[in-house]
Amino acid sequence: MRQLLLDCAACRRCGLAAERQQVVVSRGNPTARLMLIGEGPGAQEDSVGLPFVGRSGQLLDQLLAVAGIDSNQDAYVCNVVKCRPTGNRKPKPMELAACRPWLERQIALVNPAVILLLGATALEGVLGIKGGITSLRGKWHASEEEILHGRNLMPVLHPSYLLRFNSQAKGSPRTLTAADFQEVHRCLLAL
Ligand code: SF4
Repeated sequence: MRQLLLDCAACRRCGLAAERQQVVVSRGNPTARLMLIGEGPGAQEDSVGLPFVGRSGQLLDQLLAVAGIDSNQDAYVCNVVKCRPTGNRKPKPMELAACRPWLERQIALVNPAVILLLGATALEGVLGIKGGITSLRGKWHASEEEILHGRNLMPVLHPSYLLRFNSQAKGSPRTLTAADFQEVHRCLLAL
């Protein structure tokens, strides 16, 4: 894992290297059975050097904790791209492709049984599925791709989306995501 950090820190495979403060590789437990994959670092993550440490990360941690999952003890947290896209724009396909080998090394090293894909860009970057996060969220997926084979994959809504649509009414994005995390916890207990 240390070599991965060093290799990522030196990476200039795509244009995102030009404006980053630092490469944001991961936080959490590298031996966890659960991996969370988001889109890319925001301003705070770029500054601190850790993924999901801003407001959306705090909400993510809260919702996971309610489901009995500690994001730093029970999960390994990373993104599909390791450098911040300026202005928090969506990463381009060529940037997703350039960074994919690092993600695959992370999956191989952590070897998670369960992978949560946080938001539409993670869904696209990992499974190649464009669109449909609203209908696909909360459902288990499988992949025949070698690095993903045998793992339980679930797309969920991105926590930044939950911040924008803050209702806690029944059927709201936040309550749906809370239920998705309960399902993930059940799956982890059953493994
Ligand atoms: S986003 Fe990924 S591929 Fe691009 S420079 Fe950063 S680490 Fe390298």
